[in-house]
This record gives sequence, structure tokens and C-alpha cells, in this order.
Amino acid sequence: MTRVAVSGAAGRMGQAVVEAVEGADDLNLAGKADPSLGVELSEVLGDADVLVDFTTPDAAPANIRQSLDAGVHVVVGTTGFDFDELRTAAEASGGEANCFVAPNFAIGAVLLMLAAQQAAEHMPECEIVELHHDRKLDAPSGTAKRTAELIRGAGGNVHEPIHSVRLPGLVAHQEVIFGGEGQTLTIRHDSIDRRSFMPGVLLACRKVGGLPDRFTVGLEQLL
Ligand code: NAP
Repeated sequence: MTRVAVSGAAGRMGQAVVEAVEGADDLNLAGKADPSLGVELSEVLGDADVLVDFTTPDAAPANIRQSLDAGVHVVVGTTGFDFDELRTAAEASGGEANCFVAPNFAIGAVLLMLAAQQAAEHMPECEIVELHHDRKLDAPSGTAKRTAELIRGAGGNVHEPIHSVRLPGLVAHQEVIFGGEGQTLTIRHDSIDRRSFMPGVLLACRKVGGLPDRFTVGLEQLL
């Protein structure tokens, strides 16, 4: 049994993670940290093998460092902060704990990124439009930034700026539109329910402890 604690446990994603962990036969919910619950992270780390963090861009870096220092592996879903700083912190931390970060835990979004890299080899000019609920703190989304990085790595030219739409009623959606002479190609993914992220989060909880590197980015690394 892997013991999983959740930080941001009272938030939209945190509540979905708590429910998913409770429903998994091979995972045990070790604790729920969140200011709204009056529970500090330090109170739950002692009982955990893995921490799942879905908090805020301000809170996540300190939570992750605290978890790594306590020897607890971390699965990070929070977006809107610099992953490179985290990589340095994870690689420099003295213990044995690993850090896994995914800007998007939905399999469909990972497939969109893979398809976009393939398309960029043949139709390099493209734009990204990401659409999210109006309570999202960061823009552009972590998924859009990661998609742009991967497309550029494949030789594509992602036009700036990335377009961010924030409206009530949306969950998490993204389009990549490629344009060539006389044609366009649109690749789109829609998360219409936060449950779309949960198989990826649970997979990360199961695999983070066995990863070969201290710091890993992207759900595609686990598939
Ligand atoms: P949310 O509903 O605002 O939840 C965040 C929760 O974290 C709140 O309950 C907040 O409490 C709590 N929190 C704040 N500081 C904390 C701390 N130091 N320790 C523990 N908990 C703390 O946000 P959300 O919609 O769940 O999204 C959370 C993050 O996940 C965002 O960065 C979002 O972009 C990201 N996200 C990622 C994915 C993915 O697949 N990677 C998918 C969806 C969302 P208070 O309200 O009391 O401050």
C-alpha cells in the first residue's frame, strides 16, 4: 500500500484527488492538508510515502521543498511557477525522494501534445488557444506553455502570444491551430470533468518512487 497525502485537499482538484485515492485499492489516504481544513503540511508528511500537491503557484514550491526534505516523494499538479527552479531544488536535495511534475494529467492532453509535435514537423506555423474556468490563477496555462515548448523542440513556430480565455462554465480546454498554404489543421482537447485528470494522478502516485531521475516532467514519461 502506498500512503498518499494531499496538499490543497479542500480545493477543486484536491477534493477530486482525495476521492480518487480513497477509491484505489492499492493506495491509502494518509492525510489532507489545506488552510481551509486547518491542517498544516507538516502534520501529514510523517504518515506519507507520496505527497500530491494541487495548491497555488505561491504555495507549491515551498510545499514541494518541505516534502522532499522530509523524504516524501512529490507528485505536482500545480502550475504557474518556474519548474526549472524546482528541478535544481530536487536534484540538490539531500534525501532520496523524487519529484514528478505534470502540467496536465489528462491522457487526451498528452496525446494532443504528441500529435502537435508530429504536425509541427510538416506544418510549423501555429497558434495555441487555451480556455479555462474563470478562477484559474495563472495565464497562459502550464499545459499551453509545455505544448509550446514541445512544438518548438519539434521545429514548429508557435506565434506569440498564447491566447488565454477565462470564462465560467469552462473546465480545461486547448486548441493548437496549424496554418499552411490553403489549409488549416486544428487539434483540440477538452477536459469537461476533473475526473479526467485522476487516472494520470494515480499512475504518478504509483510510479514516482521508482523513477530513475530525481526530477521528471510530463505524464508521457510514465506511459
Ligand atoms: P483551488 O480550488 O483554488 O485549490 C487550491 C487549494 O490549495 C485551496 O483549497 C487553497 O486553500 C489550498 N492552499 C493554498 N495554500 C496552501 C498551502 N500552503 N498548503 C496546502 N494547501 C494550500 O485550485 P484548483 O482549481 O484545485 O487548482 C489547483 C492547481 O492545480 C492550479 O495551479 C491549477 O492550475 C492546477 N491544475 C493542474 C492540472 C493538471 O493536470 N496538472 C489540472 C487542473 C488544475 P485556500 O483557498 O484557503 O487558499
